[in-house]
Order: sequence, then C-alpha cells, then structure tokens
Amino acid sequence: MDFGFTPDQEVLRTNARKILQEVCTQDYVQQCDTEARPPREAYAAMAENGWLGLILPEEYGGVSGSPIDIAILLEEAGRQYEELAVWMFRSMVWGGYAILSHGSEQQKQEFLPKISSGEITVCFGLTEPGSGSDATALTTFAKKAEGGGYIINGQKVFTSGMDISDYCLLVARTTKANKQQEGITNFFIDTKSPGIEIQKIETLGHRAIGTTQVFYSDVKVPENCVLGEVDDGWRAADKYLWYERLCLSAARYGAASKAFEYALDYAKNREQFGQPIGKFQAISHKLADMKVMLDVSRVLVYQFAWQMEAGKASRHDAAILKLYTSEAYKTISDLGLQIYGGYGYCMEYPMQRFFRDSRLAVIGAGSSEIQRNIIARSLGL
Ligand SMILES: Cc1cc2nc3c(=O)[nH]c(=O)nc-3n(C[C@H](O)[C@H](O)[C@H](O)COP(=O)(O)OP(=O)(O)OC[C@H]3O[C@@H](n4cnc5c(N)ncnc54)[C@H](O)[C@@H]3O)c2cc1C
Repeated sequence: MDFGFTPDQEVLRTNARKILQEVCTQDYVQQCDTEARPPREAYAAMAENGWLGLILPEEYGGVSGSPIDIAILLEEAGRQYEELAVWMFRSMVWGGYAILSHGSEQQKQEFLPKISSGEITVCFGLTEPGSGSDATALTTFAKKAEGGGYIINGQKVFTSGMDISDYCLLVARTTKANKQQEGITNFFIDTKSPGIEIQKIETLGHRAIGTTQVFYSDVKVPENCVLGEVDDGWRAADKYLWYERLCLSAARYGAASKAFEYALDYAKNREQFGQPIGKFQAISHKLADMKVMLDVSRVLVYQFAWQMEAGKASRHDAAILKLYTSEAYKTISDLGLQIYGGYGYCMEYPMQRFFRDSRLAVIGAGSSEIQRNIIARSLGL
C-alpha cells in the first residue's frame, strides 16, 4: 500500500504553499475577516497560476487533475485561509465539476474556460427556509414559459456568496412528483437576472464570503440555463455533493492544521509559573489529542480522494469523512482557544476566527447528525 504523493503532486503542494504564503498573509486574512470582504487578490493569484481549472480538461483551460490533486490544493488554501478555499471550491465544483459532468458542449465552451481563468465565480442555491437537512423538500418552482425558457419563483436561504458571484447553480422543482427526489432540475443562472433580490445574512463566521437569502420573483431564464436532464437533477446534485464532502474536508483539515500550529507555537512560548505552558500536562495532552485528530483527518481525506479516483467511494465513506474532519476541526479550534487563554478570546489573535469558522463545519453541507444517520443506515440501523 502506497501512501505517497507523485512528484507532480509534491510540486503542486510546494508551489501552492509558497504562493499562498505570499498572497494570503495572516494580516490580509484578518483584514478580510474583519471587513467582511472576499479575498479577491488571493483568488486572482490562484487563477493566474491555473489552479482554478485544476480538475478541468486542457481544452477548457485545465490540467485534468484528480480528486487527490484538488484535495492537495484545497488543503493548502484552507491552511492559509479557509474562506479562500471554500470560495475556490464553490466555483470549481458547483461550476466546473457540475458543467463538466452534465453540461452541453455549448455550456462547457461558454463557462469552463471562464471558471479556469477566474473571470466568473459560482455559488450554490439549494437550501430554503423549509428545506435544510431535508434538502429535497424544496419548493422553489421553475415553470416552463410560453415561447421558451422558464420562470422561477421561490425563496432560497444560505446561498453563500450569491452577492459576489456571477452565476448560481440553482436547484429548483420543475414537476410536482410523488417522490421528493424526483421532479427536480438544476439551472445555471446569471445572478444579475431581473427578479432576483439578494439580502445579506449576518453570521458568526464565514465572514469574508458570507451568506445570503435570495428571493426569486418571476425570474425568466432561457432554456439553455438547464444543466443536465429536466426533472432528474437530484441524481446529478447528489453526485456533486460527494465532491463537496471531499473539498470541504480537505480545506478544513488544512485550516485545522494551521490552528494546531498556532496553538503549539503558543504553548511553547507562553510562560506561566516560570515555564512554558506546554510543559503542563493539561496543555500538552490537549496538543497530543489535537495531533491525533489531525492525522486521522488527513488519512480520511486522502483515502476518500483515492476512493473517488478509483471509483470505490461510497455514500457512507463520504459521511464518515465529513463527520470526522468537521468535528475534529471544531474540537481543535476550541482546544486551541483554551490554550491561548484570554488572548484566544481577543479579536486581535487568530484563534477566535478558527473557533467561529469551524462552528459552521458541523452544520453546513449536511450536519453531523445527518452524517451519523447515513452511517447508521449503512450499518442496517
Ligand atoms: C453560513 C452558512 C452557509 C451555508 N451555505 C450554503 C450554500 O452555499 N448553499 C446552500 O444551499 N446551503 C448552504 N447552507 C445551508 C446548510 O447546508 C444548512 O444550514 C444545513 O444543511 C442544515 O439545515 P438547516 O439549517 O435548515 O437546519 P435543520 O435541517 O432545520 O436542522 C436543525 C437541527 O436539527 C437536526 N436535524 C434535522 N434533521 C434531523 C434528522 N433527521 N436526524 C437528526 N437530526 C436532525 C440538524 O442536524 C440540526 O442540528 C449554509 C448554511 C450556513 C449556516
């Protein structure tokens, strides 16, 4: 069994880390978080280096990278700034991966090169006020319009980055079917379409990109906005959600690694009672536990990436990955804050940001409770 990376993957990691350290300094990260502004300069640098098209074929501006490659890239981006990694992932998966998987040739040619070059960014509109964990209970309706196209009415909530994105992968109902998962269609829509109203939601973390609620009132979209098959969109969206689990877990493993490094460094340097606090067993055992959680997260991320590449990934593997890495990130950030003592509670120090951002990890994209349900079901429970 080989746990190593290829020479090309090592180069990708080294180069990504070097550029990210240059363009996404910790002062810059703090500024983006405080001012709630997206890390546009860092995003542009990722595009300039060709990384936004990592998983796309060359003909669309990419390099045909693998799930392991995207995990490496997003781990490195997450290590430097989770918000940057999450922003990249949304365009790469809800835009790039979705269009590559189910788009028409015309959609591929129109959008994929622009995603690779960073010219357009993409967000994802699935959740509604009445459909969170029960995602397919969505009611936003896209009705066939006379003369072609669709007219969309409804309300979405938590469409992150809708206000700063050019396109949204919108999941809407097109037919009232007997089964909830049926009669759903994916649309790739222009976020500036008339009839769309976006309202920002104030949140604890995830501040640089942020999230929104979106009202769709008689939004007319052309026929070629449909992505994939009409009424069979859930099967496609479900496929993208697996990729989402991998990308978010890689980004959060990266962020947890950074939080751990801060905490370890602090424990070695902060002195109380005449010695570094890391010499107290109460602190050193916290760090030992954090290190174990990180190592398990890493194994799970790359094992799942390998499973995806080999076509061996299963729904419950994805749930185990999402559950463990997000809970580990939350715990590591919480313990890190405790190790920082009072300074961990201050906005001037970085640990509070990890604490706030990691709280979302166990709620968004399928909460920990939902992941446990999936795992339990796979056990025949
Ligand atoms: C900051 C932020 C960004 C987000 N970004 C996006 C985005 O870009 N696009 C998008 O579409 N969505 C996004 N979401 C939505 C996110 O995926 C949902 O919040 C999440 O799926 C949970 O749905 P809910 O908030 O409605 O909670 P609910 O489903 O109402 O759940 C409330 C509680 O009940 C528990 N629960 C629910 N059902 C069960 C069950 N069957 N068994 C056990 N426990 C259960 C949940 O685990 C949770 O603890 C975002 C959310 C946030 C907060």
